[in-house]
Amino acid sequence: MTTPLLLPFARGDASQADLLGGKGANLAEMTRLGLPVPPGFTITTEACRHFLTTGDLPPELRDLVSTAVAGLEAPSGRGFGSASDPLLVSVRSGGRFSMPGMMETVLNVGLTDRTLPGLASRGGWHFAWDCYRRLLQMYGHTVLGVDAGAFDSLLAEARSRYGAVDDAHLPTEALEGLVTRFRAVLLEDGGAELPQDPRRQLDDAITAVFRSWTGERARTYRAHEGIPETLGTAVNVVEMVFGNTGEHSGSGVCFTRDPATGAPGAYGDYLPDAQGEDVVNGSRTTLPLSELGTHEPALHGQLLGHLATLEQHYRDLCDVEFTVENGRLFLLQTRVGKRSPEAAFRIAVDMVDEGLITADEALCRVDGHQLEALLHPRFEHAESGVVLARGLPASPGAAVGVAVFDPARAVAARAGGTAPVLVRVETSPDDLAGIIAAEAVVTARGGLTSHAAVVARGLGRTCVTSVGGLVVDPAARRAVTADGVVITEGDVLSVDGTSGVIYLGALEASPSPVALALDSTARDHDDALVHAVATILEHADARRTLGVRANAETAADALLARRLGAEGIGLCRTEHMLLGPRRELVERVVVDDRREDALAEIEELATREFEAILATMDGLPVVVRLLDPPLHEFLPDLVELATDAGRREARHVVDEAQDARLATVRRWHETNPMLGLRGVRLLTVLPELVVAQVRALAVATTALRDRGLDPRPEIMVPLVAIESELAVARSHITRALRDTAVAPVPPVGTMIELPRAALTADALAGHAEFFSFGTNDLTQTTWGISRDDAEAGFLATYRREGLLTLDPFVTLDRVGVGELIRTAVRLGRGARPALGLGACGEHAGDPASIHFFAEVGLDYVSCSPPRVPIARLEAGRAAVRRHPTTDTR
Ligand code: ADP
Ligand code: MG
Ligand code: MG
Repeated sequence: MTTPLLLPFARGDASQADLLGGKGANLAEMTRLGLPVPPGFTITTEACRHFLTTGDLPPELRDLVSTAVAGLEAPSGRGFGSASDPLLVSVRSGGRFSMPGMMETVLNVGLTDRTLPGLASRGGWHFAWDCYRRLLQMYGHTVLGVDAGAFDSLLAEARSRYGAVDDAHLPTEALEGLVTRFRAVLLEDGGAELPQDPRRQLDDAITAVFRSWTGERARTYRAHEGIPETLGTAVNVVEMVFGNTGEHSGSGVCFTRDPATGAPGAYGDYLPDAQGEDVVNGSRTTLPLSELGTHEPALHGQLLGHLATLEQHYRDLCDVEFTVENGRLFLLQTRVGKRSPEAAFRIAVDMVDEGLITADEALCRVDGHQLEALLHPRFEHAESGVVLARGLPASPGAAVGVAVFDPARAVAARAGGTAPVLVRVETSPDDLAGIIAAEAVVTARGGLTSHAAVVARGLGRTCVTSVGGLVVDPAARRAVTADGVVITEGDVLSVDGTSGVIYLGALEASPSPVALALDSTARDHDDALVHAVATILEHADARRTLGVRANAETAADALLARRLGAEGIGLCRTEHMLLGPRRELVERVVVDDRREDALAEIEELATREFEAILATMDGLPVVVRLLDPPLHEFLPDLVELATDAGRREARHVVDEAQDARLATVRRWHETNPMLGLRGVRLLTVLPELVVAQVRALAVATTALRDRGLDPRPEIMVPLVAIESELAVARSHITRALRDTAVAPVPPVGTMIELPRAALTADALAGHAEFFSFGTNDLTQTTWGISRDDAEAGFLATYRREGLLTLDPFVTLDRVGVGELIRTAVRLGRGARPALGLGACGEHAGDPASIHFFAEVGLDYVSCSPPRVPIARLEAGRAAVRRHPTTDTR
């Protein structure tokens, strides 16, 4: 069977989004559900791909469109091109993935000088001229490439000449005059007239929509969202229904629940006497949906009924575009709606309570990135801030940045290292790069469903829209608030996307209520969001098989980790106890001067620190990694010492101690210290350091056991490459443990952070009771890239030029590093079935990497304390994904 080029709505369904695009598939699905969708058909993405490769529409399409248009004419009795009762259509883009506002739509196609009177007899001359001027605008912009601003300035001129507050209040003669002027614009700026053959209009619009797929705006968006270029868009041709025929008509956009907070109940904007694009482009101020309930209760009731149908059917938050023509309601679009992280958690949990979805589904509808956003700080002492203006809380968050008034300045500010707040009258798809660059977006107009609001929520940017009385003057790079306060470029603003308040100056931020609530033992939460997060985390904990530990080296961090749900410490880096001023203790061991004292001091201070950490993690495992960093981090700087020595020589001053230091540092100096004397190598060369640390751990453990506590230390050897190294280190450890008579004896394991270790894991497992994958070093050593150098340098170029899609230091490289891990797991478990397996390092807190660790069967991940809830959530999601249970509703 060949792939169809065209399908009427009545023949498609929601499963065909690849072919029909999201919009087309959902229009078909709504038609199937018996919802009031105007008749229409979809020209498929297959036709678009043909167009993209050949530059022409498929030849068969012509006849297919003729037949399909005839199919639209039949139910209403209207004719496409009929002078007495013309059928008009909209020509709408819509690809597989929603790209809000990125591509083109042409409304009122089929309107010509000949069909205009027929349209006027349907809704009056005011309405007919209004449709005509809109067609000229959209055809001119989309097909002929005329700058939309040309029409906007003529509209503005007409509004002021006729004293009209908005376009809907322009008198008939003004609209007729605009049609004449717009025609002139088309000729002058676009080099062509509006075709007077309706079919030409239709074909031109279809081609223009296909072409818009490759427009710069659409490409930028796809690049950012990772949507493949080859998919192509579908085109939906839909019979026009008219929201601009008077006060009993109108258009609106709504959500089945509040997309910002997740609160139940329909939420949206409505505009009487308007075509749909007026609602989203912010050219007029919308009314809340509830006003429709006041003016047209029956209609409002009908709409709520349809919203309920959609939510029950899709079992998710839906958004809807609708139009009312003389009291008759039509649905023009639906899709599963974008939502803020807050709403995602709240809706998921509410839908479980309502019996719509299972707890597993709820868990899969949120992710670690969303949770991370909720853990972001909020403004502290907001009440004492200087309030500049208030608007609608369109996308939550607390952002501080400098005011900029156009997207290019936002991009420039970000590039210069300054966080910008983009202040606009309203945003359009042309602002996308600026919104991506912005810390926050503020718009004077637009509701919660405006372009700015939708895009900001999707990108996780803070956003406040509909700021009352704010007059923005992009040309002068300033804005004036309702109270007359002038904001100029560079002024620091604090934007609270949760309350909708904009403050002057930088406010201090504090932890989010979610972070605070998770960091406590309180079980009952009255706050709906906190309750939702806690409920989902509880389910994630019940489902996950991957343990979550934390990396911590102080009792305070350990306590935080434990409160956030960590089941132990997977990595306690002992060097943290010996850096700073204590560095000199290691130097003394190396320089051989008063070595015994220094070792005793190290043992004593390490004992105290271990005691505190083990006590905090009482009853839970604590993996202590023996000293790891390169020796040079503990020694004085070679250049400084050598310079000093040079000066002494010049002045003939003798200082034997300093000379000895210099000699030692020279002796240990390495060109590539990161590949040199560190980890197990250092412990092999200076076994006294191992012994001191192990003794400290054993003494601390015994002391706590004597106090009736249950300390569970484990000892880990870093940077092992060969079996013999580990065997030697282990014999030192065993001896030290025997000397202290600690019982039971702590398990000993090794890190796997060198390719050689991974490839010989079976041999290493003979000397290790557990492995922990140190994925930072394993990535560096597998790739031969130093992370510190790569971040600023060529990796960025690689990513820009598409050689790399992911940063391997952020998201674990499944192919290369992942293969080493899989090998080590297989070899290790083959040699020692009870081998414990964990991962520590940055990747252990990264959602995608956590899924990998769960897949390969590790026992736990160990991440930084604040990321513990994120790891718990993702580990739960990974379990559900790998072992979906059948319905537990
Ligand atoms: P977008 O993807 O940018 O939302 P749409 O294709 O949905 O673009 O169309 C833009 C606007 O035109 C929307 O508000 C939509 O509801 C309205 N619209 C589209 N088709 C029709 C139609 N047949 N009758 C009335 N309004 C329509
Ligand atoms: Mg569009
Ligand atoms: Mg739409």
